[in-house]
Amino acid sequence: MTSRHLTLACIAALALVWGFLPEFTLTVMSYIGLYALVASGLVMLTGVGGMTSFGQAAFVGLGAYATAWVCTSTDVAGWLPAGFPAALLPWLGLVLGLVCTYAVARLLGTVTLRLSGHYLPLGTIAWGLSLYYIFGNLDVLGGFTGLTGLPPLTLGGFSLASPLHLGPVIWAVLLLALWALNNLLDSREGRAIRALKGGRVMAESMGVDTAHYRIKLFVLAALLAAVSGWLYAHLQRFVNPTPFNINIGIEYLFMAVVGGAGYLWGAVLGATLITLLKEQLQDWLPRLLGSSGNFEIIVFGLLMLFVLQRFADGLWPRLAGWSQAFLKPSAPSARAVAASRLDQRVLPAAGEVLLDARAVTRRFGGLLANNNVHMSLKAAEVHALIGPNGAGKSTFFNMISGVDTPSSGEVRLMGEAMQGRPSRDFAVLGLGRTFQHVRLLGQRSVLENVALGAHRRGHRGWIASMLRLDRAEEAALLAEARHQIERCGLGEFADRPAASLALGQQRVVEIARALAGQPAALLLDEPAAGLRHLEKQALAQLLNQLRAEGLGILVVEHDMEFVMNLADRITVLEFGEVIAEGTPAEVQVNPRVLEAYLGGELNGAGA
Ligand code: ADP
Ligand code: MG
Repeated sequence: MTSRHLTLACIAALALVWGFLPEFTLTVMSYIGLYALVASGLVMLTGVGGMTSFGQAAFVGLGAYATAWVCTSTDVAGWLPAGFPAALLPWLGLVLGLVCTYAVARLLGTVTLRLSGHYLPLGTIAWGLSLYYIFGNLDVLGGFTGLTGLPPLTLGGFSLASPLHLGPVIWAVLLLALWALNNLLDSREGRAIRALKGGRVMAESMGVDTAHYRIKLFVLAALLAAVSGWLYAHLQRFVNPTPFNINIGIEYLFMAVVGGAGYLWGAVLGATLITLLKEQLQDWLPRLLGSSGNFEIIVFGLLMLFVLQRFADGLWPRLAGWSQAFLKPSAPSARAVAASRLDQRVLPAAGEVLLDARAVTRRFGGLLANNNVHMSLKAAEVHALIGPNGAGKSTFFNMISGVDTPSSGEVRLMGEAMQGRPSRDFAVLGLGRTFQHVRLLGQRSVLENVALGAHRRGHRGWIASMLRLDRAEEAALLAEARHQIERCGLGEFADRPAASLALGQQRVVEIARALAGQPAALLLDEPAAGLRHLEKQALAQLLNQLRAEGLGILVVEHDMEFVMNLADRITVLEFGEVIAEGTPAEVQVNPRVLEAYLGGELNGAGA
């Protein structure tokens, strides 16, 4: 039995016994489904995307109030054409709820997601509270008493008035959402989404517009919350502001975190545990303490502390770990799809200037990290940038790759002026790079990490990914990633988590990732650091081959033997200034260079 079989068996069992469960159980189950829907959005937003929101309850409220207003307002009835079927009102309410939520989330996302660190969660608290008070103070929404008399949902003339009938719809929506989100995470777009948490600089260098992805993820989580609110309103048949208050927003976050913020099924587990626990606590605590109040929130706080202490990733990974003892791993989908063709770049002819830095200067306060640096990189050459520690090599790298902007001077890539443009534009124009301090998604496989490098060569969006319409393109992306991994000699590690490789190998994974983007210019920051002798030889061979294929390669490297054997031209930096430029033979006898290196390191070179 695989985990997929177990999931299907559980769903089938639930469907079979549903009609025989007592009314109370059905109600609780329905609420669990509603909460899990909101929590699944939070798993995406917080667990996967790294953005903490305390304000999700407000979006549930938007969904609920939209349909409540449409279904009960006499104004709306007056605007609609005579004879508009009453059974369609809730569906009109759903559309309105989704439109409003989209607009509000887009606006709030644009404003709040700019905040970083603790300011982002604080921002979500602020608008969570504001929306709550707006619900409570608008007369058209019934103030703090709310709106009553909502009709039940009807489907094909069949009324879904009780949890017995609405519950299966709620769970069907939840399961559909989980399926779609799971598909999304397992796609080109999913790889970009996973990079939002802790890998934004890297993702931008792979061509991902991370600010845009953050807003999209935020809107997606809000829409899931709004759908939950819509179903909630028709289950409850009345709405008031209380269930959309900030403390309920905190409960949603509890659910996602306790269940396991990085795992979709953790949302279901968390919603189940917290709902059942709340049920019990609301029963017992007042009796125990002799007075009524929201004591459960205190217990939740303690519980959260305990879970975070003992199970930092939530409970789901533990459960999944235990179940592995008796579950077989799910076989990858057997349905083979013909891979589509990825975008191909036409490489510039040998000798053409790819990258041109003119009089680049970078000041950090009083420090001149780069002073009037000129350098150009041509197609089909290896250009080495060397210099003692602190000479300004990495600073220069950041400026010619769009991570940083020169204080003065100009960087041109493929003939275009790049001043002030983001690093993803550099990637689009054909620049691939690695980082001196390796930037990989450690928990993801080498294959996924490398496939992220090919991000801009595919085009399928979020909806196509959710509906699995991206399989042909995905097959092509993964095939390309695997090809690059094999070419870099790491074929046997393709399916291992990137963090499990030695540091030197992780650098090579970064090279494979850059190559997956089919760059014309390749910037490597200390690629040979941490490699053993044979691995260095293999790397040199790979770079030689890439040069023969027409790539321009700029390499920062401390290993002089490696540099002297490989480079066509060398630029030497010292204290932020170019002190020499020429062939390895010229540079090795340059007196200023010899002085900078005190004669030591350069002599070992065998060029
Ligand atoms: P290299 O890569 O050649 O070892 P770097 O480019 O990392 O050198 O650093 C060049 C100089 O600029 C160093 O003196 C370093 O301390 C300084 N520097 C680099 N980045 C920053 C920064 N973000 N803020 C202030 N100083 C910096
Ligand atoms: Mg450096």
